[in-house]
Amino acid sequence: MIGRFQLKHDGRSPLLLVLLLVALVPAVCVLWLITVATRNERLAVERKLTSAYVTHLGSVQRELTSFWRDQHASAASAAGGSASARFAGIIHSNVADGAIIYAASGEVLYPAATATNSIVQVAEDPIWTTARELEFRLANHVGAAEAYERIAQDSSDIHVQAQAIQAQAGCLLKAGNRSEAIRILDRLATNSMWRHATSEHGTLLIPNVQLLLLKLIGDLENERFRDVLDRAAARLNDYGDAGLSSSQRRFLMEELQRLAPGKSFFPTLAAEQLAEDYLEANPSPPVQGTLQTTPLPGVYQIMIPDRSAILLFREERLLSELKRLIDRVALPDIVIQLVHPNDSLPRTTTVPLHDAADWMPGWRLALTFRGPDPFEAASTQQTRIYFGIGSIVIVATALLALIAGRFVSAQMRLTRMKDDLVSTVSHELKTPLASMRMLVDTLLAGRYHGPDHLDRYLKLIAKENHRLSHLIENFLSFSRLARNKQQFLMQDVKAGAIVQDALEAMQDRLTAPNCQLTVDVDPDLPVIRGDRQALASVVINLLDNAYKYTGSNKQIRLRACHKNATVQIEVADNGIGLSSRETERIFDRFYQVDQSLAREQSGCGLGLSIVRFIVEGHNGSISVNSQPGTGSTFTVRLPLTNNGQIEL
Ligand code: ADP
Repeated sequence: MIGRFQLKHDGRSPLLLVLLLVALVPAVCVLWLITVATRNERLAVERKLTSAYVTHLGSVQRELTSFWRDQHASAASAAGGSASARFAGIIHSNVADGAIIYAASGEVLYPAATATNSIVQVAEDPIWTTARELEFRLANHVGAAEAYERIAQDSSDIHVQAQAIQAQAGCLLKAGNRSEAIRILDRLATNSMWRHATSEHGTLLIPNVQLLLLKLIGDLENERFRDVLDRAAARLNDYGDAGLSSSQRRFLMEELQRLAPGKSFFPTLAAEQLAEDYLEANPSPPVQGTLQTTPLPGVYQIMIPDRSAILLFREERLLSELKRLIDRVALPDIVIQLVHPNDSLPRTTTVPLHDAADWMPGWRLALTFRGPDPFEAASTQQTRIYFGIGSIVIVATALLALIAGRFVSAQMRLTRMKDDLVSTVSHELKTPLASMRMLVDTLLAGRYHGPDHLDRYLKLIAKENHRLSHLIENFLSFSRLARNKQQFLMQDVKAGAIVQDALEAMQDRLTAPNCQLTVDVDPDLPVIRGDRQALASVVINLLDNAYKYTGSNKQIRLRACHKNATVQIEVADNGIGLSSRETERIFDRFYQVDQSLAREQSGCGLGLSIVRFIVEGHNGSISVNSQPGTGSTFTVRLPLTNNGQIEL
């Protein structure tokens, strides 16, 4: 059967399955390997980076520890012989927001409630008694003022003098003599003679007088006022002056600041207030020298190692200072947060919390990332590399499998074709041979009646012979074709001669009574370069098909013309025609639309594939235009020149 030539697809399925497995199994293995490798890579990267970050946190911890060491050293070495000067030194050098200075015995030295001034008690003196009587009992303010003035003049003690002048000014005020009171108070305040005079309570007298003076003048724009204010402020800011108790200093600072608001005269006032508030709330010093909270909200304390001072910090300042310090040393891509002992941070990274610093028990350092998680980034990059390599391996495997598959399938097809060809050839040859043998045997046996009978038998033998030759010719052509051995004998040949050769070869059939042939060949067809015999066989095959696949009333038209630098040969028939799906396949080897019809017409499905092979071997083309039931037109276009070498 001719149909046996058609490729059988069922044999390919197991092959496809094997190929799929060949490509799929390594692909799955590679993917599995990539997944495992990626996971391990992430773990390795995580471990490496974590240890790097822990080391980094260690260096931040050392920075913080050295910050505290510096604070302690600065506090211990703050300038000044007295406790008050040391306090001022600590505040001025911005070591802390406040400080308490202790003696070695643990006694608070600064801020201390009282100063160590000598107390001059004048109340028991009879002349003072007389003056007081005049002032308070008799309300003789003018007389009292004179009595106090006399006391001042008669005494050689600066404390007595100052107290008397102050009392005199008070009486003058009560008597309504304000300007005189101001005058003598001013004299008292400006004369350095009375600078260290104390009141009967032991407090420094002059600063109080200055406050009174300022209240009496009461005019910020007054030059006198500004002068008194400046001198008073300078004295309060002078921490070397041991005569001022811290409570008097703080009181006066607050009063003066109130009198002249808007300008800050006392850089240590806030520290004084903080220290006093602290002592009020927490009179006994802490035992441990570490950073601790205080009873004051938002205030931290730390006792310096030599236990000579407690440093006080407002939370806001402390945290911002520590943050600045941390930010300065932290790597650019990370954020390090200081975590309060009572706070808990949600874990965002695998880097563990780290102790913040010595002297800061319970405080921790937490590390987060500014941008994308570097663990993720590093492992993603590695994953990409793995996937890249994996993809290359998979694609390479698939390609190799494909190439191997193609090769194997081509080999299989060839083997199958060979088998099919052998069996078909023997089968196809057997039929005409058998029929010829039968006819020859009949003739040899003399079983014929007269010359007519003999003539018919001989014609039948000739026909079978012709069919046999045609079949053998086609098989040989195909065999050469399959082995890619066809080589054309290229020469200049008149296109008209090719058509003529074909017409002659087909003359018998085309002139049959049921066949009407129209030939329309341009007499001036050009010369083309090609294999005359091969090209004639193209036309013969087309004419032969036109004849074979047409009904009893055959109308065949052969046209040849010169068009667009090509010779165009057209064979049209009014036969059974072809569907568009069939026209796509008829040039395939061994393809036949209707096998039984083809068989009847002694076809073997090779004619058109040979035609296409020859045409393309001449750099030409072939096309078909057909309608089922109407007929077909095959058109061959051959270029005027070509080199004739062909590859399958
Ligand atoms: P065969 O030797 O079978 O004729 P071909 O390769 O010449 O092989 O043709 C392939 C098939 O194409 C034929 O079997 C037939 O079905 C179809 N065919 C070829 N020429 C025509 C035509 N002119 N009209 C209709 N069908 C055709």
